[in-house]
Amino acid sequence: MKALAVYPQQKQFRVIDNHPEPRLDSPSQVRAQMLEVGICGTDKEIVTFEYGDPPEGFDYLVLGHESLAEIVETGSDVTDVVKGDLVVFSVRRPCHDPECIACLSGRQDFCYTGEYQERGIKSRHGFLAAAEDVGAFIWISLSGGPAVGWRAGLPVRFLETAQERRGNSEM
Ligand SMILES: [Zn+2]
Ligand SMILES: [Zn+2]
Repeated sequence: MKALAVYPQQKQFRVIDNHPEPRLDSPSQVRAQMLEVGICGTDKEIVTFEYGDPPEGFDYLVLGHESLAEIVETGSDVTDVVKGDLVVFSVRRPCHDPECIACLSGRQDFCYTGEYQERGIKSRHGFLAAAEDVGAFIWISLSGGPAVGWRAGLPVRFLETAQERRGNSEM
């Protein structure tokens, strides 16, 4: 599928159309359709090759870490979001060091080892990949419940745009 790929070695970035299609690899994952992807200063630095690391086995990194998506499929273990929910996926994913108390307790923004991964930045592909992507086990639901606090932190226009795209006004 199509994706915006950054090639740090070649100092290039371009749209590619052979990025692997997403699929659920575990029952705790969800598949989502990307609705919006923001571009920030971090992305500018990545496309000027100041940093940005492709995942293992790839010579490119798919860009994009600020996302709004709609759930289209859920694994059998997933109970806190359902198809149709709007979500924002977390960017940083925990390291696997058994000594890293931060990552072990779900506080990977305070990772002690530096071995974390970040979607669209460090060792994990980002969200600027055609229509869909797989988001693993960490998300903030915008459709109600525990994520209500986050709605206040997002620009209202951003959410309205998402509502219009979904064609409903229930939020
Ligand atoms: Zn950013
Ligand atoms: Zn860690």
